[in-house]
Amino acid sequence: MTEQTIQLADGNEMPLVGFGTYLINTQEMMDTTIKTAFDAGYRLFDTAQLYRNEDFLGDTLVKLKIPRDQIFITSKVAEISQGYDNTIQSINASLKRLKTSYLDLLLIHWPVQEHFFDTWRALEKLKEDGKVKSIGVSNYSAAHLELLKTQAKEMPVVNQVELHPYLNQRALVDFDKKHHIVTQAWSPLGRGVTLDNEMLKKMADHHHVSVAQLILKWHLQHGVAVIPKSKTPSRIVENHQLDFDLSEDESGMIDLLNRNQRTGNDPEIVYETGKQYKMYEE
Ligand code: NAP
Repeated sequence: MTEQTIQLADGNEMPLVGFGTYLINTQEMMDTTIKTAFDAGYRLFDTAQLYRNEDFLGDTLVKLKIPRDQIFITSKVAEISQGYDNTIQSINASLKRLKTSYLDLLLIHWPVQEHFFDTWRALEKLKEDGKVKSIGVSNYSAAHLELLKTQAKEMPVVNQVELHPYLNQRALVDFDKKHHIVTQAWSPLGRGVTLDNEMLKKMADHHHVSVAQLILKWHLQHGVAVIPKSKTPSRIVENHQLDFDLSEDESGMIDLLNRNQRTGNDPEIVYETGKQYKMYEE
């Protein structure tokens, strides 16, 4: 893999900038966006059972004839597929839809109290069997990770969480770092809400970059991996061009924008109630 990567605690390499595919939900849109993203240098593609687009992504990758070892595919086990047997069966189905014999990274999409340890055991087994190279979680708090540690044979190497300038999750990022877990930001642009910020606009102008580029670079300089999504070709290309540096002062000023403002669900509430209380549509 030629692009900038980070070494995970299990020794595997993961690209720092990936392409998010939530709401890329037609074959045509998948074909166009993935071709643009691959040509622009992206090698990580992030999908999930919940996005109902694994089959589109699989078909696109076959059509593009990209050698499997040149790309990194992440998928996630949905809440409804959790539990030991269900997880194993559902991942076999995901692999068929994606037309591949293995995932580079499999995440538990949201913590589910009822199946908390069983689902993780299934991920450990899928890794042992070579069906996934690396295993991790998504939307886990420090408390969830501490709980997992009490029974896990191995710990997650990635925690994918909502993270952007209005929700900088600094304590969780520090916790992850201390436990050799790479934090990967979902909605790294705050689904667009952060892009109108006046201070960010001025800072971006100073660097001759867009606000989106500025924010993505801020993540990377904090050691956080990113998976921005766009269905717009020019933005897909732009989001991968991050060849500039922010000073410590600039990065610190972006840190101060934190308002603990979520665009998605709060993992603690989902864990306690077993329910997603809002779904995001554009
Ligand atoms: P995002 O990447 O923060 O933002 C996407 C929005 O920003 C879209 O409306 C897009 O518009 C716009 N945008 C992208 N690049 C832009 C640019 N350069 N300039 C201006 N606007 C730009 O949000 P997201 O899609 O929610 O998150 C990214 C990925 O994270 C998802 O696709 C998915 O793979 C993953 N995710 C994971 C979870 C989880 O629970 N694990 C939850 C949510 C998302 P256009 O598309 O119209 O260009």
